[in-house]
This record gives sequence, structure tokens and C-alpha cells, in this order.
Amino acid sequence: MRGMLEKDANPPLGDGGDATARELLAKAMERPRALSTRELATLLRMPDPKPLFEAARSLRRSVVGGGVALRGLVEISNICEKNCYYCGIRRDNRNPKRYSMDAGEILAAAGWAHEAGYGSIVIQGGERRGEAWTGFIEGILREIHTAFGDKLGVTISLGEQTEETYARWLEAGAHRYLLRIETSNQSLYAKLHPGDHSWEKRLNCLRTLKRLGYQTGSGVMCALPGQTIEDLAEDIAFFAAEDLDMIGMGPYIPHAETPMAGWSGAGELGAARRLDLGLRMIAATRLHLHDVNIAAATALQALAPDGRERGVLAGANVIMPNVTPRRYRAEYDLYEGKPCLGEEAAQCRGCLERRLAGIGEKILWNRRNDPLHARCSR
Ligand code: SAM
Ligand code: SF4
Repeated sequence: MRGMLEKDANPPLGDGGDATARELLAKAMERPRALSTRELATLLRMPDPKPLFEAARSLRRSVVGGGVALRGLVEISNICEKNCYYCGIRRDNRNPKRYSMDAGEILAAAGWAHEAGYGSIVIQGGERRGEAWTGFIEGILREIHTAFGDKLGVTISLGEQTEETYARWLEAGAHRYLLRIETSNQSLYAKLHPGDHSWEKRLNCLRTLKRLGYQTGSGVMCALPGQTIEDLAEDIAFFAAEDLDMIGMGPYIPHAETPMAGWSGAGELGAARRLDLGLRMIAATRLHLHDVNIAAATALQALAPDGRERGVLAGANVIMPNVTPRRYRAEYDLYEGKPCLGEEAAQCRGCLERRLAGIGEKILWNRRNDPLHARCSR
């Protein structure tokens, strides 16, 4: 059965019954990459996702171990040269007050994350090109590396760049890169972006990052208008085919100041179904890939206060608490309902520790927690 994402929380199973789904779970737990795309779609459609989440969490514990790794997220700038139709900080949105953190502020945020025991940071921002930006980021990466050496893992997520830029940033001290493919369906990608954005170019960037030696992460948005369960199953097959080390996925959440918010189907799925799809994707991805790092994205928390914990219960092993200075947070306005806008980083730290303890998970403090997949496959 092929069709748009179903609205109800318990969509009908496309093929096979409950027994089939149970057999598929056993097969997936036995060895990585065991399932066909059709079988992945069957898992994503399970009427009751509880066994799916339980299998994924249990597999996560046995393969990558217990505990949750943290990455302090520094949203360094909301200035972006691109115009993705879904994103609140797209170039043509005149409403956010544009900002760029200076080198001192970025270094201070990295230092705070290190002191707090987070073990890794993610430097994320809008996509910008040119020597001034490339050199600025390169300088910061060197300063961070000089200050903290290999004790602090450094991920960057600054969009599509040239091979030379990626190589310079790697040499300056970054060792992980996140670049979501957004969807593996090329015609859906074309609908979500203006004509000058290219899916092939994004894929080539991912392959370049991998070839250069970055621990490479990608991911997709789910609950997109026009997306099907088969698209999501293909997304998981894409992660396997590209041999990724890290996966970051989250539900699409409309933003009123973007073109996509007005599209038919954009706001159709309720928060519960968006969250449900995000959790199913985490679980099915864990079951298919086994040893990668999977983040419980902030978008899950935007849909439910305990969204990130539910992500961990569905097989995720990474959380990215926000360490951006409070005065900038509201301006990094990707989608509606972004959480923790008013909290200082220290409050987030305490809150997260309590929340994870509540589901019986401990935080893996003061460790970089590189993905097992990257350690084993190189
Ligand atoms: N500019 C870089 C890039 O696009 O790779 C990194 C920053 S970008 C804000 C990070 C991610 O935010 C994107 O890859 C996209 O998946 C996600 N995002 C943007 N708008 C969103 C929305 N409305 N709902 C959910 N996620 C969104
Ligand atoms: Fe820019 Fe990234 Fe938003 Fe696209 S998703 S508009 S590249 S910040």
C-alpha cells in the first residue's frame, strides 16, 4: 500500500500482520541491514509501536551500551544564504533579527559545555560561503582545539561547502559533520527547495565529508507534506547505503513565516502523529543500522515536553542540549514551539539530568562518545 502519511496514530498495517512484524523485529535484531525497504515500511506501520520501541531500546543497550551522550548545541548564526521552503531562518524571511556570535562568545559557549561535562559540542548555523566565513570558522576551530584538545568532540553543521573548505575545517580541529539529506526522495526534495538547491550536490557533499575522514551524520525530516511511509523506509535504506556514522532526524514542524506553512498537507498531521512518526523512525533506524549514534532531536521536545526522553526510549543515544547564549535563542527560529528559549544552559543541564534519571538512563559525562560505527568501520 502506498499513500500519504496517515493521520491517525495507529495507521493500518500495509502488509503482513502482527506475527509478521514480530518476526521482522527478531530478524532485525539478529544482524544489521537485514531488512528490505518493504519490511522497514511494515515496521513503520506496526499498529502498536510498543514492541518496536522496546526492541530498539534493547538493541541500543546491547550494541552501543547504556547511557546517553550529550552534545552542547551552539547556534552560532541565523544568517543563511539559502531559502529552504520549510525553515524559519531562510534568507527571504525578514522577521528574525539576524545575528552572528563572535569568536569570544563561541569559545565561551564551548568552554561552558566542556566544564559542564558534555564531552562534545555541535557548532551549527545557516549556510554561508566565502573566505571571510570559512576563515572565521577555521580560526574558531583552532582556538577550541588549542583550549580543549581531543577532550572535547567537535561537530560542525554549516551546510554545503566546497571540498577545500571541509578539508580546512577538518584540519583545524572539527572531526564530525552533520548534513541532513532532508529526504532521500529526490522529487520530494525538489518540491521543498527552490530550483537552485540541488539534492545531488547535497549527496556529493556527504560523500566528500566521508571521504575526507569526518565522522559523517545525516538525517531527514518526517511528516513532510506529500511524504509516504515508503519514502521514510527508503530514507532508512539510504542511511545504510551511504554508510553513515550518525543520524539526526526529527519531525517537520510548520513555521508560519515560511512558504511551506500555507501548503496543503503541511499542517495536516497533529503533534501526536508527528511525534509518533519521529519515534518510529528512530526505532526502525536503530534496528536496521545497529551501531550508529542516533540523536533524539530537539523537534521531538517541541511536540511534547518529554519528546527527547521518548526518543531515548525508542533507541536514540544522543541528546543535544542547547548552550547558545539566551539572548540569541529566540532568533534561531527554525519552527514553531522551539523549546527552552528562556532557560540558561545551566538550568537545561539540571532539567535534562532529572528527566533522564526518570526513565532510568544515566548521562555519559566527560566523554566524547564517538559513534561505535566510526570506530569499528575505519
Ligand atoms: N544550515 C544547515 C543545514 O541546513 O544543513 C544547518 C542548520 S539547519 C537549521 C538544521 C536542520 O534544521 C535542517 O537540516 C532541517 O532538517 C532542520 N529544520 C529546518 N526547518 C525545520 C522545520 N520547520 N521543522 C523541522 N526541522 C527543520
Ligand atoms: Fe538555511 Fe539550513 Fe534553514 Fe536551509 S535549513 S534555510 S540551509 S538554515
